Amino acid sequence: MYDLHIHSIYSDGTAGIEEISKYAQRKGLKIIAITDHCSHEPWGSKLLDLETVMERKSIIESANSGNLIVLNGLETDILWNGRIVFPKGLKKDFFDVIIGSFHMWGNISKWEKSLLSVIRSGMVDIIGHPLAYIGKIPWNIAEKIAITAADCDVALELNSHYSLPDIEFLEICREYGVKFSIGSDAHHLYAIGNVEECLEIAKNLQLKLLDPYIFCKK
Ligand SMILES: [Zn+2]
Ligand SMILES: [Zn+2]
Repeated sequence: MYDLHIHSIYSDGTAGIEEISKYAQRKGLKIIAITDHCSHEPWGSKLLDLETVMERKSIIESANSGNLIVLNGLETDILWNGRIVFPKGLKKDFFDVIIGSFHMWGNISKWEKSLLSVIRSGMVDIIGHPLAYIGKIPWNIAEKIAITAADCDVALELNSHYSLPDIEFLEICREYGVKFSIGSDAHHLYAIGNVEECLEIAKNLQLKLLDPYIFCKK
């Protein structure tokens, strides 16, 4: 089992990376990603500082153990201009896995334009909690998102911290071959790996899940 969406004290989580790793090992997880926020908002601003990002990376590396892989991840804010927030001076491959997410509500046309642009940018691997800040979307927009995500090989997330997308949206994604990632979005130790509901819906709807080992490239 894996969990590709966990926050530590490097953003708004309450646990240190060592602690997270030990807890995940006890829970029997095989791969986790520490995906702290990178944002202009106070809760994600630590990762805009290069020194902090480097320090966090070395702690993540030493949190790897024989039976647990800990990935150097990031959850970046998607902005209304179709860009993401990213630490200056770094390239995408500094991180093992990058989630792009909206964290504010906006109108549907701005949402669609920004999301499509980020999916096409090649800068993110996963769209975090895709419908959390928009709700139900018309089927023609859902189709456009699904086609683009599948074409660009960007996964959409089943996130257990937010309500899951509606079944109609998930079925459209399935039809176009979109891959899904599983994440708890844990901000506290106890929530790590609590992804049963996501796994169940993926199984019931026969959604295609991504292979988390593709991110273990280094
Ligand atoms: Zn998020
Ligand atoms: Zn998150």
